Amino acid sequence: MDVRWEEEGWERLTGRAGRRRLPVWDCTVGLVVGDESVLLIDPGSCLREGAQVRAEAERLAGRRVTHIAFTHGHFDHVLGGAAFSGAEVFGAVGLDALLSTGREDLRGDAVRHGLAEAEAAEAVDLLVVPKHLVSGEWTLELGGLQVLLANVGPGHTRHDLAVFVPGERETAFCGDLVEESGEPLAGPDATPRQWPAALDRLLALGGDDALYVPGHGAVVTADFVRAQRATLAARFGVSET
Ligand SMILES: [Zn+2]
Repeated sequence: MDVRWEEEGWERLTGRAGRRRLPVWDCTVGLVVGDESVLLIDPGSCLREGAQVRAEAERLAGRRVTHIAFTHGHFDHVLGGAAFSGAEVFGAVGLDALLSTGREDLRGDAVRHGLAEAEAAEAVDLLVVPKHLVSGEWTLELGGLQVLLANVGPGHTRHDLAVFVPGERETAFCGDLVEESGEPLAGPDATPRQWPAALDRLLALGGDDALYVPGHGAVVTADFVRAQRATLAARFGVSET
């Protein structure tokens, strides 16, 4: 346990990486600290929350957040983005178009899930769209630390990006491809039949010993991800090869 991280409400996972489970929707925000640059994964669910996350992250990292990665385009993972002006923003290829054309859907979805109308409208107006689009894999140099961004989907959505951070233990930020606090949510934008293959790619990149950080819930092991893969395959009638 790291007292300083704990005092800020964060869970330190390795020397370079940690995360916080945000209130209300229990969405995970990840923080990765390099010698020169700082990466934040999924920057909160509205501007107010994004600003709070930014302040905490900058206290923990000792400098400003320079990079943001969106694991996918759901409101609870992207609407805090505008609180990080000047950061370089990464997402899976196609997420830029989805966020540019789907603003009304995003706002409606946020309000249906309980975000205040005014907060949803403000966040969608100022929505940050990724400029760096990942198809396949992208190595991000943070200074003494190389992080891998991998477009492992589709599955939970059509734009699922995972982030792999080397360390004492490899840490894999999975977005909502993995959920621990409940069954994985397959909404209308999911591609359930392709989801098990996305988890195969996630496991291949993360390996057996990694910490897998779900979009919602406690950190899990490769065995948990394999079990969730089997459950999804059975639920959606994907035959095993
Ligand atoms: Zn989601």
